[in-house]
Amino acid sequence: MKYKSTRGSRDSKSAAQAVIQGISQDKGLFVPESIPSLPFVLEDMKGKTYREIAFAVIQSFFTDYTEAELQYCVNVAYDKKFEAAEIVPLVKAGDAYFLELYHGKTAAFKDMALSILPYLMTEAMKKEKEDKKIVILTATSGDTGKAALEGFADVPNTEIIVFYPNEGVSQVQERQMTTQEGENTHVFAIRGNFDDAQTGVKKIFNDNDFAEELAGSGCKLSSANSINIGRLVPQVAYYVYAYAKLLEKGEIRVGDTINIVVPTGNFGNILAAYYAKEMGLPVSKLICASNENRVLTDFINTGVYDVEREFYLTNSPSMDILISSNLERLLYHLSGDDGAEVRSLMESLEKNKKYQVNEKMKKGLSEFWASYANVEETNAAIGRMYAQNGYLMDTHTAVAYKVYEDYRKATGDRTATVIASTASAYKFADSVAASIGLPIEKDGFANVRALHEKTGVKIPAGLKGLETKKIRHKDVLAIEEMKEAVRNAL
Ligand SMILES: *Cc1c(COP(=O)(O)O)cnc(C)c1O
Repeated sequence: MKYKSTRGSRDSKSAAQAVIQGISQDKGLFVPESIPSLPFVLEDMKGKTYREIAFAVIQSFFTDYTEAELQYCVNVAYDKKFEAAEIVPLVKAGDAYFLELYHGKTAAFKDMALSILPYLMTEAMKKEKEDKKIVILTATSGDTGKAALEGFADVPNTEIIVFYPNEGVSQVQERQMTTQEGENTHVFAIRGNFDDAQTGVKKIFNDNDFAEELAGSGCKLSSANSINIGRLVPQVAYYVYAYAKLLEKGEIRVGDTINIVVPTGNFGNILAAYYAKEMGLPVSKLICASNENRVLTDFINTGVYDVEREFYLTNSPSMDILISSNLERLLYHLSGDDGAEVRSLMESLEKNKKYQVNEKMKKGLSEFWASYANVEETNAAIGRMYAQNGYLMDTHTAVAYKVYEDYRKATGDRTATVIASTASAYKFADSVAASIGLPIEKDGFANVRALHEKTGVKIPAGLKGLETKKIRHKDVLAIEEMKEAVRNAL
């Protein structure tokens, strides 16, 4: 299986090469030249473990990895560091099935892909006979940086450097990063906002002289962000797993369709669900849930993508995004692999801050249904779910649940529905505590404790004891000092 660019150049790569390179030379994203079929007949899926399904799904995309290489990657990624024995529990609450993707080390769904990406990368380096050390550079608004740090910590032949906006992440998120262990981890706060950090990282990536200097000392920069195909493909597995579990539990019969609801930011997670459907998983609607930054809701309903709008800071910060990078892959598939068309849409986005898709692509969007929830509706959904079912949702998952309620009201559809549950409620304890009627404490850790006392839900190991853990990373830098910090770290 070869990987091509969404922007139409002839840049054709093996999976290993695409994983190392991250983004195509023409700035497009790597996509498989065709979507493989499901590696199982549906009847045989019952009873399969998460590892078995992850291995088979990833193998059908990444055909240049040997069986032994992939088995190794899957085995080291999905092991005891996940606090749930089944890795991804599927829990029924209210009218839906919650696919709990947050039992990894950082208590958010990004662990699902970032637990395996470091191994896919280091195996790829060996396959491609690259003898350099991989240096991951990441700017983060909170969740990605921590998940990347945990994924790469102490992985041989890698270094990881994370920049976050000083005073731009929650208290829990900041403490998670500043206490990060691992000899190869480097964390810096930046005097600036997330965009400043992001721009600074991009500048370093585009600095050819610096790349040469690093190559001279045996290092190669790479990125762990969600446009890397090595993050997308592992996410396809859990939707296949969800179907297997529904069969096993007798909630559906072989061939029944399901709906999938995804709280969406950069469009990576829901694109993985789309890939699962394209592989032949019986999925009816893909339901895209946004917060007040509802650019995707409007796009799916009108075919016009328009970023010229107010930007809101909400209590589901991982979805506070106006430019959803992974949408480019969907555009490519819906256009019938028309790289020239995608390139012109992306140019329009850069120049005019908007684009409109053609009729054919708009038709393709009808597989999706989209709506959004504001902060009040999100908090109300958390309160209602807890009061009626004793089930605790985080703010992102609550956005998805509220949109699912809208969908049922609008359509009357009663198809079995899986909701991607993307974070532990403890990660956003302030909002969740308030939503179930607890008094709001100023100290984020006090809210974690209060939430635990009230609900009895287990605190994820990664968040426990964070208050007293040793702080290992204290540097606060000016934006101009980022490059020098990278140099010194290496
Ligand atoms: C990143 C993230 C999302 C959004 O996922 P995308 O793949 O970017 O659409 C949703 N919820 C949480 C908790 C996240 O960390």
